[in-house]
Amino acid sequence: MKYLDEYRDAHIARALLTEITQQARQPWVLMEICGGQTHTIMRYGLDELLPPNIELVHGPGCPVCVTPLETIDKALELASRPEVILVSYGDMLRVPGSHADLFQVKAAGGDVRVVYSPTDALKIARQNPERKVVFLAIGFETTAPANAIAVWQAKHERIENFSVLVSHVLVPPAIRALMTSPDCRVNGFIAPGHVCTVMGCGEYEALARDFRVPIVVGGFEPVDLLEAILLLVRQLEKGESRVENQYVRSVNYQGNLPAQRVVEEVFEIADQKWRGIGIIPRSGLRVREEYGDYDASRIFHLASITAEEPAECISARVLQGLKKPTDCPAFGMRCTPHNPLGAPMVSSEGACAAYYNYRRNLCGSATLARQSPEAS
Ligand code: SF4
Repeated sequence: MKYLDEYRDAHIARALLTEITQQARQPWVLMEICGGQTHTIMRYGLDELLPPNIELVHGPGCPVCVTPLETIDKALELASRPEVILVSYGDMLRVPGSHADLFQVKAAGGDVRVVYSPTDALKIARQNPERKVVFLAIGFETTAPANAIAVWQAKHERIENFSVLVSHVLVPPAIRALMTSPDCRVNGFIAPGHVCTVMGCGEYEALARDFRVPIVVGGFEPVDLLEAILLLVRQLEKGESRVENQYVRSVNYQGNLPAQRVVEEVFEIADQKWRGIGIIPRSGLRVREEYGDYDASRIFHLASITAEEPAECISARVLQGLKKPTDCPAFGMRCTPHNPLGAPMVSSEGACAAYYNYRRNLCGSATLARQSPEAS
């Protein structure tokens, strides 16, 4: 654990906080994109340790949170069919669709199974040739290579009973959409280190240039995030807007080229709906025509399924950094991790769940949550 401990070292964190306080002379609003980064910030109380002129807002980087409601409804529809085995990551089972969640469909007899990788879903397809196995393939650039490999492998092994229900989203178009919104208050971004491990830093340079906004690729430990904040503050105070890489132990400029190639082989860029936010042009991935036999949306004719977001959930504004979870009237009352109204309260990466679990629990168990961060 020595390596991780260094990135949680209190002395280093205090030194970084002192440096941030000295450097930050003006008010700045910074957005961390990734839900994993949000959880670290909440878990270690970093936002409360920063000087009051540095405000952190939370971005749309939780893959479960931004998966459109109709994708969940399509998964529910598929899971209800007797010939289908619906396979997913565990987080997705509790995400509420329009009328139910996958747990409820499973309880009613649907064959819903949890896996840790899409190749496990492929294994289930090999073991059950008489059934149709559908993998709910969601996520950012980070999970796209593994999902692409599963589709590629299925095609090359001629496994005909496997398909993917895809909802893949891309970070740079989301940042572009945030920056073009008239409500945007963000002065600098902490870009997600794991996405950049796959895609590299290059595609963020156009964003930094076009919007004159500094972007620092950051890691996920408290020292990573404090260092990323310091780099942003230094740039902002000097009037600079460059891409910098704090997460050098994982990210290089080009990213993982073989991973990018397999994604390019199987998927193509398309307009994508983000839950609560709406359609962002060229912000998602869909299965290419050549791999259409593995695209569940085409095979099962699911395009006609549409859905409306519950009016009570303000996750769209939370995911754009315009509101904090605690601004939502339902937070901690009608919406809790045990009874979520919206995806940001379900996912382990969701901002609402982070606020609830680590200290914004209206029931007063914040101290308890800090002592046992996994408890919810
Ligand atoms: S607290 Fe619940 S209802 Fe409110 S924004 Fe978060 S997920 Fe939606």
